Parts: sequence; C-alpha cells; structure tokens
Amino acid sequence: NKQIVLRDYVKGFPKESDMTLKTSTVKLKVPEDCSDAILVKNLYLSCDPYMRNRMSKMEGSYVESFTPGSAITGYGVARIVDSSHPNFKKGDLVWGVTGWEEYSLIRSTQGLFKIQHTDVPLSYYTGILGMPGMTAYAGFYEVCSPKKGETVYVSAASGAVGQLVGQFAKLMGCYVVGSAGSKDKVELLKNKLGFDDAFNYKEEQDLNAALKRYFPDGIDIYFENVGGKMLDAVLLNMKIHGRIAVCGMISQYNLEQSESVHNLFTLVTKRIRMEGFGVFDYYHLYQKFLDMVLPLIKEGKINYVEDIAEGLESAPAALVGLFYGRNVGKQVVVVSRE
Ligand code: NDP
Repeated sequence: NKQIVLRDYVKGFPKESDMTLKTSTVKLKVPEDCSDAILVKNLYLSCDPYMRNRMSKMEGSYVESFTPGSAITGYGVARIVDSSHPNFKKGDLVWGVTGWEEYSLIRSTQGLFKIQHTDVPLSYYTGILGMPGMTAYAGFYEVCSPKKGETVYVSAASGAVGQLVGQFAKLMGCYVVGSAGSKDKVELLKNKLGFDDAFNYKEEQDLNAALKRYFPDGIDIYFENVGGKMLDAVLLNMKIHGRIAVCGMISQYNLEQSESVHNLFTLVTKRIRMEGFGVFDYYHLYQKFLDMVLPLIKEGKINYVEDIAEGLESAPAALVGLFYGRNVGKQVVVVSRE
C-alpha cells in the first residue's frame, strides 16, 4: 500500500521534501469485532489549505496535527472494497476524510457521505460537490446575508471556494469582483467564471487604491480567503452595514507570527459584521446544497475549474503548490480512476 507520509512537523512554507512516498506492508482488513469500519480504494484526493495547519505541532486547535511517519489524511473520494457497516456496501462510492494512500481502513463511517449521483465527474466530490462547495455555499448564503444588487469582493477568487462564491453571487444578481495572483487566473475569472471584473493583486502597489477603482461606492460583502494586507485594505473600503465572512487567511498560514491588522476600528465606524465560520458546522445543509447545485452544474449555469495532478506521488508537490498559487482552480490528485 503506497502512502504519502509527513516526515516531521513543518515550520514556515511547506516543501515537497516534508513528505515522502512510503510502501506499507501492513495488511489492511476490516476488524471482525467492529460494525462500522470500511476498507476503501482511494480514487481522488483533495489538496486543501487547512492541511498546512495540520502539518504543524498544535494543541487545542480545531483540527488535529498529522502524525509524523503516518499517512497524511484529508478529504477524498473512494470506493468501498470491504465493509462491516450495513449501509455502506462493497462497491459504494463515498467522499469524506480518508488517507493519502492507495487503500485506507476507515474505522468510523461517521462523517462520510455516500455518493448517489455519478452523472457528474467523481472528482467534483473533492470540490464543488464536496467540502469546498459546502464552504462556499454556507459562507455565502448563511454568513454573508446577501441581497440582489449588492457589491461582493472575493479574494483567492479562482480557487476551489472562491470561484463558487463568485458564481453564487452572480446568480443572486450581485456585482462581483475577484482577485487572484496571475494574469491567466484573472482572465479565467472574467471569461469562464462570470465575474464582473477581476484583478491581479500581485501587480497592485496599493491595494486600497485598487479596491477603490473596482468599488467606487464601497463593498457590501467581502468573502475573506487571504487575510493580512488584503483584509486591511478591504476594511477601508467596506460600506456601512457591510458583512465580512472570514473563511480563511491563507497568507498567514506559513508565518511564525500573524501580521497585525490595523483598520479594525472601521468595524465600529461602519457597523460591519465580521464573522468567522467553519464548514463542519453546516453539513446538515448538504442535501439542500446538492438539490441546488447539481441542476446548476447539469444545466451549465455554473462552471467548475479543476487542476488535476496525476498519481499519488504527485500529491506533495500539489499540496505545496497551493501556497505559491500554482494551482489554477481546485487542486485534485488522481490516485486511481477506477
Ligand atoms: P485555493 O484553491 O484558493 O488555493 C489556494 C490559493 O490561495 C492559491 O492558489 C493562491 O491563489 C492563494 N494564495 C496562496 N498564498 C497566498 C497569499 N500569501 N496571499 C494571497 N493569496 C494566496 O484554496 P481553497 O479555495 O480551498 O481555500 C480558500 C480559503 O478558504 C483558504 O483560506 C482556506 O483555508 C479556506 N477554507 C476555509 C474553510 C472553512 O471551513 N472555513 C473550508 C475550506 C477552505 P493566487 O494565485 O490567487 O494567489
């Protein structure tokens, strides 16, 4: 069983060499005394920014650290090859937390979702139909309280979550601008993902001035993915009674110490609601979410851009790439297509 293991806890930016490919000779088997275990063959793995936090030694965080020497775990799509659970049968497809390895023994099916719709690409269950999709949905509809005609700004807009937030906002009749880190990503936002406008934040000397250019009357909703200097500039451009959904702050994940944010007092002067959220609090909405998104995908009313890396051995580079903006769209790793 080939596995990707973390060598040791990471400080600063992660490197490919922080992870290594190992072959385990341990024979995986569903234990006889357990009625809720499944053995799966992993098909698609998801690279997600929060995994960086799990590479550090942490205590009391909302996610657990990885165990050095053991296979990394993360979201993925898998096929069941053996099961002791009556509702999860051999041959069923599932998505949820699995291992970065060819086969995984999952000791509890709690938190796993059975895949019922296979007339869409299976890899979508790592993205638009999986955790990032639910994140965009919950963050936008539940946290941002959006209304037709409002102005919406999305950072890391071409990524797994951001590309969907922008499209949800357009479907609601909002004016949407996104930022991303390359010319190609900006083109993608404007031409394929339906954003009204987009800019390359790396080319802007003055983010405050850039935001004033795109939002001369201010921002109603900011979907926060990056933090740091971007958040500071956005705070200066929010409208009165604006909302900021804090989804993530990827610019801070590799820093020993977080950057200071200077303009927080505008939360008071402009009566802004800034709210952090975690997707795991919203999974009870998953069916409602599928009922909305599946038809949109099938009718071509929503697009989804994926960046596919081939083979388990490509997973470390794919994960590290997120922190350098190498991924264009949702970063997926294919372990096996069947
Ligand atoms: P993406 O697919 O957007 O990939 C990460 C992207 O972040 C990169 O491609 C890069 O794009 C951008 N980025 C990397 N470093 C920086 C930086 N220093 N400054 C600005 N941008 C940077 O990831 P996701 O869509 O999966 O995740 C987006 C955010 O959502 C993350 O902050 C993540 O932690 C958060 N998240 C939160 C969840 C929750 O429950 N709250 C659940 C899932 C995700 P570019 O080229 O544009 O710089």
